[in-house]
Amino acid sequence: MHNILVLGGTIEATRLVAALAAAGLATTLSYAGRVERPKPQPVPVRVGGFGGATGLASYLRAHAITHLIDATHPFAAQISRNALHAAQATGTPLMALTRPPWTAQRGDRWHNVPDIAGAVAALTGPPQRILLALGRMHLAAFAQQPQHHYLLRLVDPPEARPPLPDHHIILDRGPFDAASDTALIREHRIELVVSKNAGGSGAQAKLVAARALGLPVLMIDRPALPARHETHDIRAAIDWLIA
Ligand code: NAP
Repeated sequence: MHNILVLGGTIEATRLVAALAAAGLATTLSYAGRVERPKPQPVPVRVGGFGGATGLASYLRAHAITHLIDATHPFAAQISRNALHAAQATGTPLMALTRPPWTAQRGDRWHNVPDIAGAVAALTGPPQRILLALGRMHLAAFAQQPQHHYLLRLVDPPEARPPLPDHHIILDRGPFDAASDTALIREHRIELVVSKNAGGSGAQAKLVAARALGLPVLMIDRPALPARHETHDIRAAIDWLIA
């Protein structure tokens, strides 16, 4: 009997649980609770942190979870580390379902930085009009570079006014397409795009638009994680579950 826990918050997790529900495999989807109105799902959903790796291990034991799938965002490194530790501590088989990172193509003008702090440091200099499509958790760091105009694209309205003196907020949860992102960049006279290397198709449109318009991109590389059992393919994840 399967009793699968999927750590989600991504489109891959949503697609995976749809496939698991269709296959009749008992599954619970876990959200951190960052998004206010998550979309309805075909499996039971639980919301909120577990209380670190120890709390996750307790959850795995208490709910007799047979398989753990970490389908969280590549920048959600803490929960992925916790998943590894909890899986080891409880002997629960773990698979990570991830997306391959984006790679620069001909015409791209990417400047890679290792993390958010690196992106903030790279913005030293005269004022620019910047598309900052990073999510509301990371906005405060950019207060160190208050000279820029920041166009912020967010899923939910921020709880407090972002500490960026010159900003404009657009609320949209995507997925986005290159034509509308090109129009957005033109309309707001954007000169630089700041992006995390999330991978996947839903957020790639801004990079396609930047390439088409010859704009530079400040690309924040992914946090490093220990080696783990990993696939980019939902079918492979299901094969692993039923093997
Ligand atoms: P994080 O830094 O890795 O995790 C911080 C804490 O949030 C974790 O220690 C855990 O709390 C809780 N948490 C994270 N994901 C969870 C989940 N799926 N279910 C239950 N608890 C979870 O994560 P984050 O960067 O804040 O991202 C939070 C969520 O948003 C993730 O689920 C991720 O898939 C999604 N997301 C993140 C990004 C991004 O850029 N970081 C983008 C899109 C979506 P406890 O220690 O208390 O268990």
